[in-house]
Parts: sequence; C-alpha cells; structure tokens
Amino acid sequence: MSEPVSGKPTKGEPMIKVENLWYKYPRTKKYVLEDISFTVEKGEFVALMGANGAGKTTLCQCLNGVIPNSQGGKVKGRVVVGGLDTQETPISKLAQKVGMVLEDPETQLFTTKVKNEVAFGPENLAIDPDEIMKRIAWALKVVRLEGYEERPPTALSGGQKQRLAIAAALAMKPEIMVLDEPTSQLDPIGTLEVFSVIQDLKEEYGMTIVMATHKSEEIAQFADKVLMLHEGRLVKFAPPREVFQDLELMKLTWTHLPQISELILFLRNNGISLKDFAILKDEGVAMVKEALAGKAGRVAS
Ligand code: ADP
Repeated sequence: MSEPVSGKPTKGEPMIKVENLWYKYPRTKKYVLEDISFTVEKGEFVALMGANGAGKTTLCQCLNGVIPNSQGGKVKGRVVVGGLDTQETPISKLAQKVGMVLEDPETQLFTTKVKNEVAFGPENLAIDPDEIMKRIAWALKVVRLEGYEERPPTALSGGQKQRLAIAAALAMKPEIMVLDEPTSQLDPIGTLEVFSVIQDLKEEYGMTIVMATHKSEEIAQFADKVLMLHEGRLVKFAPPREVFQDLELMKLTWTHLPQISELILFLRNNGISLKDFAILKDEGVAMVKEALAGKAGRVAS
C-alpha cells in the first residue's frame, strides 16, 4: 500500500474528490453506490438529497472513512478528502480532517457536561490542556452555546444538542464537515438554528460542508449545490435552482419542492402566467404580486 498523501490538497485541488466510487456492504451482493464521481471546492456547501435508501448515509460514511476503515465491504474507485485518501489513511487521522454529525442528537452525546463533550475528541489526541480550553471556548462560541459549559447535555433542546455535536466535531479543527440528516428530528426553530450555524462555518471559516437532508426550503436558501442520488447513482449535481426546476427528477426521487415553488407551479397550472420560477420566498412573493397586479389592472380597465 502506498504512503498516505501529506494531508493538504495541492494548489487548485478540490477539498473533496470522489472518483468512480462503487461500494457494496459486507455479505451483500448488490453495490449500493455505483460509479459516483464529483468534486467539492473549499468553502462549498453541498446538500445530499435522494429518497430513503438512495445511498446518502453510505456516501457520508465514505467521506469520513468509516467506509471502508470500520465498516468493511468492497470499495472500487477513490475518495480523497483534504488531500487524504480514505482507503490509505487511518480513521483517527481522517477525524481531524472531516468532522461528522449524525441524525440522532441523543446517540452522539455521552458525557455529563457540555464542556466535556467538546473536550472529548482533542483529549483523545492528547492535545495540550491549554489548547483544549481554547478550542472549547471557540467551538461553543461558533455554535452559540457560550455560558452552557457546565450544563448537562441532557438538559439541552434538540437544536442545542445538535449544535453541541457540531461543536464537538469542530474541536478537532476539521476543514470539512459531513452531516447526515442533522435536522430530521428537530422542530423548525432547531432546524434553522443548525442551518444558520452551518452558514457561519461556511461564510466565516471557509469550511466545506456536505449535508444529507430533505429540507428543501433550507437547501434553497443556504446550499451552493445539490447532489441528487437515486438508487445508488448520482443523477444530478447542480445548484438548487436548477435541480428544483427539474420536475421529472423531483418525481423520480420523491423530492419535495420548497413551498414557494409549489405555489408558483399551482398558480401556473391554474392560468396565472408567471414569467419565472422561484425557490426563495421573497422572489416568489414579488413575482406573484407583480402577476396579480397586472391581472387586477386588466380587470379594472
Ligand atoms: P439513505 O441514507 O439514502 O436512506 P443508505 O445509505 O442508508 O440510504 O442505504 C443505501 C442502501 O444500502 C439501502 O438499500 C440500504 O438498505 C443498504 N444498507 C444500508 N446499510 C447497510 C448495511 N449495514 N448492510 C447492508 N446494506 C445496507
């Protein structure tokens, strides 16, 4: 086996490079990821979408090296994250490059105090205690949990728990965050809190984000691109606006459109002519107002 690469993408290299990736779980016949290739640049936010069973969790696990390092199975092709080939790099080293947040906040938190939760990863790497204190303060500030250091994680709301899980991952100072449906168990407020922290990580810290999620409204607002999976294959990789306009794809993959897009389509189908499509509330409302004003004018004259 060749030496792991240095851990820094060379100049001009993408932060994530997936090349002709095939994956099959141990003791199964069928490949659940088939010939997937894509790249993600530094500071991009890519949303992974697709129906249940499409392969989103499996792809997330390929990005953080759980596949094949812990999970086993058969991999063909290559996954390189932050310059590290996941098939040649130990998972402990990958954990410093790729932070991971899972769906269920309860299963990720296992200490008795918020600050211990954030310290856990760096302590395992035997990082200097002063540096750990700095990381705790920084990570809790980023996720807006300053002042919660001494609280038990069990006393936090769902959204706060997920933000704590993000802080625990941040304490390892990763360049990439992979989040597997982190808001599927949260209410709308918790969901928005998590997306807004993710937005800060991208905008202020230039972090590269991959998030499996079904939340179309938030994807429309925050994501740069959508990577759509269908039965283990990549069927579209494009900005949200382009993806949500592809109605055949939406049907094929059982994807919900943002509510404003549904409204635009409904009005169009009912004879109100709208000049464009919308995925954001503000642009959609402006478009509808303009169309209705025109109609009112015609009726009045
Ligand atoms: P998604 O996250 O999009 O719901 P998954 O990645 O969880 O999809 O699953 C993709 C496919 O892999 C599904 O057919 C699922 O049944 C299968 N699968 C998931 N985990 C395992 C496993 N541990 N062993 C065998 N098959 C699995």
